[in-house]
Amino acid sequence: MVNHGPREGTMVALTFDADLTEFMKKQLESGEVATYHNEPLLAYLEKEKVAATFFMTGMWAGQYGDVAKRIAGNPLFELANHTYSHQAFTDKCYGLAFEDDPAAMLADVDRTFGVLEALGGNQTRYFRYPGLCHDERALEALAPLGVTVVDGDVVSGDPFAEASQPIVDAVLGKAKAGSVVIMHIGGPNAPQTHKALPKIVEGLRAKGMTFGRLSEVLGA
Ligand SMILES: [Zn+2]
Repeated sequence: MVNHGPREGTMVALTFDADLTEFMKKQLESGEVATYHNEPLLAYLEKEKVAATFFMTGMWAGQYGDVAKRIAGNPLFELANHTYSHQAFTDKCYGLAFEDDPAAMLADVDRTFGVLEALGGNQTRYFRYPGLCHDERALEALAPLGVTVVDGDVVSGDPFAEASQPIVDAVLGKAKAGSVVIMHIGGPNAPQTHKALPKIVEGLRAKGMTFGRLSEVLGA
């Protein structure tokens, strides 16, 4: 399990979780929610050439196939695994559906690697549990897959944020060399992230920090 890289150099990893659950997919189908993608966020990273790592659920990669291919096709970006349908692997994790069977946990994450690998690009064996919820049982269930579990050391607090400044303050206040910043690319579930991101990037650059893919930051 890894929360950050070596505290030397200048590199920080920005990571974006791309969540999609069965419930969220129904909201898209009914038109209740327009999208769980955040196009301005991705466009900003591309335009500013900011390295980033995307912890994608298999369902999100399927729902936004063209976007997922675009991300995989950018050498500045790296792909990581965030389960297939964002089920929790421990009980009582932010109300997420709980996958109780270790064999099913393994199959879910393995299936997601299959979806991601088909996209090409910079593949990894990094994995993040939904809600960061894990225990010994959940870790053991995934051991055969050779994953490196990555939580992160800077929680941006972007889910359901009502303003962007607290996200900016949280990240600029905590990020240092080797940091892994947790954010989301998630439509209305992370509605302020694209507004906070330019201030975060400019603020960290002003402090002399640079951005790297997760493998670069952890391996630095
Ligand atoms: Zn998530």
